[in-house]
Amino acid sequence: MAEELNVKEILEQILDHLMPELTIYETTMYFYLFRHSHLTNNSDSVRVDPRTMAVQLGKRMGKQIDHRYLASILKSLEEKKCIRTADVSREGTSYTVILPEDIPSVADKMAEAAMFRDEEEDYFTDAEKRKIIFERDNWTCQYCFEKVTPENVELDHYIPPSRDGKSNKENLETCCSVCSGIKSGRSYVEVAPLLLKNMGERKKREES
Ligand SMILES: [Zn+2]
Repeated sequence: MAEELNVKEILEQILDHLMPELTIYETTMYFYLFRHSHLTNNSDSVRVDPRTMAVQLGKRMGKQIDHRYLASILKSLEEKKCIRTADVSREGTSYTVILPEDIPSVADKMAEAAMFRDEEEDYFTDAEKRKIIFERDNWTCQYCFEKVTPENVELDHYIPPSRDGKSNKENLETCCSVCSGIKSGRSYVEVAPLLLKNMGERKKREES
């Protein structure tokens, strides 16, 4: 495997997003397969034979395990796209063990969680994060489209905090000190005429 596994991250993805999708037996089986492929075998696949597995497991647990039951768990893991049959031979079936982020249901949940994190993340307070917004907006005031500098740049809440506007990426706009002064805590719709008027006046001044 070319890439080194980030085991901590993978474990978190399994615990947070995959386990809720699986039964306890499927989880156990997935961990077993993961352990014998990606984790210790430096490979994304592992060969298993439910009959051999049933005997080994049976010995360890001191009771008989039905190999058909193990086969049914493998089948349902495959249906949930956690594993994929690579090839079948006399020694058993080789399964490719899919990492959580590549399992469609897990990927969906991870995307959802990331979106929620983004929505909650504060880009207003932290200087480094403010800079991300300025750069996103190409150091241009989003209201009058004048270039701004670190000296006159401000960060404006498109929907003001007083109306529950959040400090996330979506609600923050790069703003020059003039527009910020005009807007001062009001919503864009309220002050749009004033902002436009100021733009016109500034343009006139520049032309004369
Ligand atoms: Zn401006």
